[in-house]
Amino acid sequence: MNSLKISNSLTKSKDLFKPINLKNITMYVCGPTVYADPHVGNGRSLIVFDLLYRVLIKLYGQKNITYVRNITDIDDKIIETSKIKGIPIDKITSDVTKNFHINVRDLNCLEPTSEPKATDYIKEMIEMINSLVEKKLAYINNGHVYFLISKFKNYGKLSNKKLDDLVAGSRVEISKLKKNPLDFILWKPALAKEPGWDSPWGRGRPGWHLECSVMSEKHLGKTFDIHGGGLDLLFPHHENEIAQSCAHNSTDTLANYWVHNGFLTMNKEKMSKSLGNIETISEALSKYNGQVIRLALLSAHYKQPLDWSDNLLEQSKATLEKWYELYDEAEIETHNSEIFLCLLDDLNTPKYFAKLHELYNAANKGDKDKRNEFNDACRFLGIFNQKKDMLIKQKKEASNVNEKYILQKIGERIKARKTHDFKLADSIRDELFKNGIIIEDKDNKTEWKYK
Ligand SMILES: [Zn+2]
Repeated sequence: MNSLKISNSLTKSKDLFKPINLKNITMYVCGPTVYADPHVGNGRSLIVFDLLYRVLIKLYGQKNITYVRNITDIDDKIIETSKIKGIPIDKITSDVTKNFHINVRDLNCLEPTSEPKATDYIKEMIEMINSLVEKKLAYINNGHVYFLISKFKNYGKLSNKKLDDLVAGSRVEISKLKKNPLDFILWKPALAKEPGWDSPWGRGRPGWHLECSVMSEKHLGKTFDIHGGGLDLLFPHHENEIAQSCAHNSTDTLANYWVHNGFLTMNKEKMSKSLGNIETISEALSKYNGQVIRLALLSAHYKQPLDWSDNLLEQSKATLEKWYELYDEAEIETHNSEIFLCLLDDLNTPKYFAKLHELYNAANKGDKDKRNEFNDACRFLGIFNQKKDMLIKQKKEASNVNEKYILQKIGERIKARKTHDFKLADSIRDELFKNGIIIEDKDNKTEWKYK
């Protein structure tokens, strides 16, 4: 059972997962910077690591897992947004955090064990910087504190790059204050109107990379099992987290398994706020049920790029609607290990989907056991979490009739039939049909569905 294999960016191979402590499996995933509503590219990361969390729960039991996903609520992007929009920082971060929580709920992601906020850990951040300065691994220049890359021998190990290549090939911030262009900020001064905290180097705020180093250590310890995030975080964010944490703790390893999900693209270009080609999760949810979005985002293997398109969503919607034909409300655990094996093999969701189609076909022929297995396997994926009538919310809006109206009309029709007014009964049925609703009389009951 315990044979999860996962692609590890640190070793560049698919490794057998061996937890440090079977009674406390630890996973840290970089959460959102709350300056703008998260887009579906961020949603992919949320769902991929939610699935990994579900796999870990199945293998080790929920009580034995600590899953931390942070909130970055102090960052240049937040300050910039506040300046541009003229909205106070607190309002931006609390509104975006609220929307983020609605999004993760609608996408049916399980809640992490804890969700630390960066601004709650400023004291610990100052302590970590102090320790790096004392160890001569960081230097102070004009209110700024920088990490001294040249003193950390393993720099570039995660991103598999040499220092010279990194300088040439990446957009590093050039500053006269730095000794090396790759040295990165640990602390920076705050302007008078900007948020800031007192520190030995003056009033200022922490660097983004440092925030994750402190929050992961606080919640998971100096070395933990899994560190996750989108591929765009691998360099420099994760590389810098390793440098700070390992230098601070005098350890060789921050996390044993570094897991990165591939990009979500739109017209084959990476979806990103800076490129302007984004769709927010909220926008997507206004058009499609969260389960459709979940299926779409899991349709490709998590390491591969995935192109976000109407076609992908319509296909996912059609699949979900088909699968819902065999939806059963009763939750029966079936322990089908064969389909689960696909997920143990580096979260191979395309293979899992193929098996689900097979199960569907077998169940559709009337095999009750297969139907139970099918329902169980759908639930494991994080779908089948709502009754069928919730699923078709969009259609309801499109057809301009709501459930209350439909049930009222059905009631009127039943009454008409009881009084043998079949003309009225038929006209009610025709009216509903015109509105996209089909009704069927089965075993003295009237059922309805959308066309
Ligand atoms: Zn992070």
